[in-house]
Amino acid sequence: MGAGPVGLALAGELRLGGAQVEVVEQRATPMTESRASTVHALSAELLDQRGLLTALGPPDPVRTGHFAGLPLDLGDVPSPRAGVWKVPQTRLEAVLTGWVHGLGAVVRRGTALRSLRQDADGVEARLEGPSGPETVRADYVVGCDGQDSTVARVGGFDLAGTGPQRHLLRADLTGVDVPTRRFERHPRGLAVSATDPSGLTRIMVHRRNWGPANDAGPPALDDIIDAWHDVTGDDLSGARVVWADRFDDTCLHATRYRNGRILLAGDAAHRQMPVGGQALNLGLHDAFNLGWKLAAHVTGRAPDWLLDSYDEERRPEAARTLALIRAQTLLLLGGPEVEPLRTLLAELMAYPAVRRQLALRISGLHIRYGSPTPPDPAVGRRLPPDLLGPADQERLRTLLATGRGVLLDRGKAGWLLLRPDGYTAAAGTADTDPAPELARWFPADPRPVPTLTTGQEDSHGQM
Ligand SMILES: Cc1cc2nc3c(=O)[nH]c(=O)nc-3n(C[C@H](O)[C@H](O)[C@H](O)COP(=O)(O)OP(=O)(O)OC[C@H]3O[C@@H](n4cnc5c(N)ncnc54)[C@H](O)[C@@H]3O)c2cc1C
Repeated sequence: MGAGPVGLALAGELRLGGAQVEVVEQRATPMTESRASTVHALSAELLDQRGLLTALGPPDPVRTGHFAGLPLDLGDVPSPRAGVWKVPQTRLEAVLTGWVHGLGAVVRRGTALRSLRQDADGVEARLEGPSGPETVRADYVVGCDGQDSTVARVGGFDLAGTGPQRHLLRADLTGVDVPTRRFERHPRGLAVSATDPSGLTRIMVHRRNWGPANDAGPPALDDIIDAWHDVTGDDLSGARVVWADRFDDTCLHATRYRNGRILLAGDAAHRQMPVGGQALNLGLHDAFNLGWKLAAHVTGRAPDWLLDSYDEERRPEAARTLALIRAQTLLLLGGPEVEPLRTLLAELMAYPAVRRQLALRISGLHIRYGSPTPPDPAVGRRLPPDLLGPADQERLRTLLATGRGVLLDRGKAGWLLLRPDGYTAAAGTADTDPAPELARWFPADPRPVPTLTTGQEDSHGQM
């Protein structure tokens, strides 16, 4: 349910895995608002694995990100796609839509989910579309329907956490000429502004005394002008509002991601303040983790434990990211009482190890799925960028683009079994047989997992 970035990415992954997919989306036309615009290194790797990164725009990531507004180099992380990829969410959704259509998924626009009922064999969904109400049946339903998820509400899920304590205004404006402000804390509040090459200026502002928005609805231009002037002293008179809304620091997390045949992913599973581009990236990681597992499950190629590993792997990761977002929210929106903490943090961030750890967390590259102490340090992680030469990397990309697992035969260095999402499932020495691990991860796959023998010459006769 839902054709946002998470629902679309999941639909593509499910199709690659051989599942029949129908995406139900209440909007009749694609979303046009400027929402998220940041793709971090792990998401860039996952999109690149499916051949989608270059379609998103010029391959030109910037290095500088931030933690709670303090500048942080995100280019210095172990990833072939290190850095911050600036991609408007509308562009990401357009590219994913083209991919999903090409793979044969059906996207039904203008159709909203109203209710769900599951039994032992499937899920019955009541929908309301252009030709009125209808009932459809599916083996599984995944709620990718965003932060006010109907699937979470009617599918038997609870979300726990903290409700709104402070709110911000956000607006896209034309006709203004204001300096760029990167998470500036002023005595009267927080101000952020940036103008894109088309002349559109995105501002976000929080006044120190603002509590929850209490369903106040989108702000009027006068509210925006007043708040911005109060915090920064800048005059926004003459601005025209393209789009404006209020958002808050609500932080909620589903207490489970699977209830029988109903699952959650993306903002439907975790609601957080959009700071540092974490929300969208977290959702994309959910989709790439779930897609191949659910596809294998519904096509009878996977045991139940594999589908359950979605919750086991993703929920703790999301909890850690929500804590990171919460810490940044407090440090950004807090008053003078957080200044000593910010000063201490700035001092700590002078140390390379601290900067690196924060950069790994924000980029998503810290993730190790499964046991924290696996028999081989490669297990549960992505491949280190320097493990393969350029020709092998290209061969691997071609194999992973089909959404299959890959056995990397590294000769005397042993073997690595990669899952379809690119994480290492198992590893062994040259004298151990990968067959038991192949049987565990891909038990009933009629197609053999392809083997990539590394270190072979490329077409130019070079190693
Ligand atoms: C207004 C807004 C502004 C944002 N701004 C920023 C930002 O500036 N920076 C940032 O980093 N992040 C921002 N975010 C967060 C970011 O956009 C989300 O994290 C990201 O879109 C999550 O993707 P998703 O696919 O999980 O959910 P969504 O993108 O919300 O997609 C959910 C989809 O489900 C559909 N849907 C909902 N209910 C139903 C139903 N009952 N039946 C059928 N379809 C349904 C919706 O129409 C929607 O298309 C913003 C989010 C919102 C909502």
